[in-house]
Amino acid sequence: MLIGVPKETAQGETRVAVTPETAKKLKAQGHTLKVAAGAGLAASVTDEAYVAAGAEITDQAGALGAELVLKVRSPSEQELTLMKAGANLVGMLNPFDREGLQRLAAAGLTSFALEAAPRTTRAQSMDVLSSQANIAGYKAVMMAADKYQRFFPMLMTAAGTVKAARVVILGVGVAGLQAIATAKRLGAVIEASDVRPSVKEQVESLGAKFIDVPYETAEEKEAAEGVGGYAKPMPQSWLDRQKVEVAKRVAAADVVISTALIPGRAAPVLVTEEMVKAMKPGSVIVDIAAGKGANGVGGNCPLSVADQTVVAHGVTIIGETNLAGLVAADASALYARNVLDFLKLVLPKDGGFTVPMDDDIVAACLMTQAGEIKRK
Ligand code: NAD
Repeated sequence: MLIGVPKETAQGETRVAVTPETAKKLKAQGHTLKVAAGAGLAASVTDEAYVAAGAEITDQAGALGAELVLKVRSPSEQELTLMKAGANLVGMLNPFDREGLQRLAAAGLTSFALEAAPRTTRAQSMDVLSSQANIAGYKAVMMAADKYQRFFPMLMTAAGTVKAARVVILGVGVAGLQAIATAKRLGAVIEASDVRPSVKEQVESLGAKFIDVPYETAEEKEAAEGVGGYAKPMPQSWLDRQKVEVAKRVAAADVVISTALIPGRAAPVLVTEEMVKAMKPGSVIVDIAAGKGANGVGGNCPLSVADQTVVAHGVTIIGETNLAGLVAADASALYARNVLDFLKLVLPKDGGFTVPMDDDIVAACLMTQAGEIKRK
């Protein structure tokens, strides 16, 4: 099969969907790889490295015109004009963007959004949400440490003692867990909040304290357990009590990393402007949910601005939306392995591209086929 790897054109996108490591494996399976010139440069992968792995270097049209196109982000309208009707596309295509899916269908593509894979053991090796959120959690702490004008660890020096930074993590999914682990390695004192009860043990096993907000009704408990491991919107009664507990911790915090998301919905507001006002000057918030608030404005903090760092009430608020892209080489390496693993399901050893709908991962990831939206 002719596989194309274009250079990503979305603003600020540094990642690439195939690395020399995965190119070599695809080549060994008998496929032909055409990589657009410079496709990997922002992730520190040279054209020469792709050639050494057995790929051919082509231009953007050559890569997008392939039978199977491997991408990071959904193709732009301009990129779609270079793709062939009937071609296959694998990427992070944003399953909740109905208009985007409509464009893919209209272009006649058979497309697969890897974010839609179920959170099952079998799908773990192709779980792009996890591989990228893990990196985002790490980088969020790195960015906070960079902006924070004090130490993270407690230090005892001849010139006196420096206190450890107090870090609050809101939302303990994959990104939140990695943020806890990273802040812990830097010596911070950490507290974390999540709606899901199963998280408490994980938080404590990483040496952080869980902010307990007990469930008082069956409705609260049921919402907290969510569906398929994901959070559901919590009843207002619980959110009000959580707000009181979180507000106390945020006021005492030096750094807040917020990662709370509910798939397909606006990110919950957890750090209000009032809470920001109560924080110490020089504190730092990294809002991983920036740009995912209601109508795409704000995030877990309404003052965060997508892809900008702003200072409000003396607090630095970082709204970087592509944190994984700031660790481009490793983010690409992991993403490319996720893609390669997914391809095992649709590229059988003995032939062309197949869409086995009896495979739950393939069925969940299929977004468009034969001019129609197929998203489940
Ligand atoms: P996510 O990015 O969708 O959300 C981040 C976190 O925010 C979640 O933990 C969620 O519970 C939390 N949250 C939502 N509303 C909140 C609120 N009001 N206050 C505080 N926290 C709030 O989550 P994710 O990282 O994609 O993980 C989702 C689930 O999938 C987790 O249970 C994770 O352990 C699970 N998972 C399973 C597998 C697997 O089994 N293969 C792989 C990866 C993740």
